[in-house]
Amino acid sequence: MRDEGTAGNPASSPGPDLDPSTEEIRTSTSEDCAAFQHDIFCEHCAYNLRGLVSRRCPECGADTRLLRESQSQIPWVYRHKTGRLRAYWKTVWLVGRHGERFCSDIARPVDISHAKRFRLVTILHVYIPILIATILYLGGLNRLDPEFVLYAALSLLCVLLFLLFVTAVPHYSLRHPDLPTETQQRAAILCWYTCAPLACILPIAVLTGAVAAAGSFAHEMNWLGSKMEDFVVALLSVFGIFIVVIPVIMMWKTLFVVKRLIRLPKAVRSNRIRIILLWLATTLMTLGIIPFGVTFLVIVYFSLT
Ligand SMILES: [Zn+2]
Repeated sequence: MRDEGTAGNPASSPGPDLDPSTEEIRTSTSEDCAAFQHDIFCEHCAYNLRGLVSRRCPECGADTRLLRESQSQIPWVYRHKTGRLRAYWKTVWLVGRHGERFCSDIARPVDISHAKRFRLVTILHVYIPILIATILYLGGLNRLDPEFVLYAALSLLCVLLFLLFVTAVPHYSLRHPDLPTETQQRAAILCWYTCAPLACILPIAVLTGAVAAAGSFAHEMNWLGSKMEDFVVALLSVFGIFIVVIPVIMMWKTLFVVKRLIRLPKAVRSNRIRIILLWLATTLMTLGIIPFGVTFLVIVYFSLT
């Protein structure tokens, strides 16, 4: 267990090996701010800043001003004022490109309802294009085989389950006995935002749809000749690569955010391992065991009837 007494209040526990510059920061009153009221860890050295009045971390000298901001840095929280679309994409950009600013919200009260709504909207950004593409594909077929429709419905269900589980894993698995309860709760809530990179699937799907429409037009005008098949294969391959790569980017980003949120090396390690294992389990379950199990049962059923 981490010793709250020695790791907690820096003002009451000066380290024995502080260099003069650090001591100067500690005793300086020119930069003093209100003391941190709860356990909050330095983003660079994981030092517990509780009670700190200086603007700089006494351990490594890092600037704590971002942590001292009283208002949330997440644009999604202000969506009713700034507009949902703008707030949503600014939040996607914040999580994807400015992790430090995003993670500074660990120092402030966080609202779970905003975070859960963001995750739901992100899942819809991925799921709706897939749903529309499937419906368009089925609608374009000359004859609808009931067995084929069943497989399409099963695929849609499995993709939805995959998205729901994969985006929920960080929230539900984040814990460690050395982490203060407040830090655990805030970090778990902020983890709902880590699905943000998945939103990029929507513009890529729209772009793919536009290229497909252009290709279809070119085919009708007979501009592509015999190359139409190559065009379709190339387009689907590129889209397929993005569909696989973007969730991987989301997972990588989540592990990065978890490190920045909880800081304590032991807690970071155990939480990352738990999250990776749960991702593997949920991916195997939703994209492996369920679809193949149901497909096997369907084949057995149709072969018997
Ligand atoms: Zn520090």
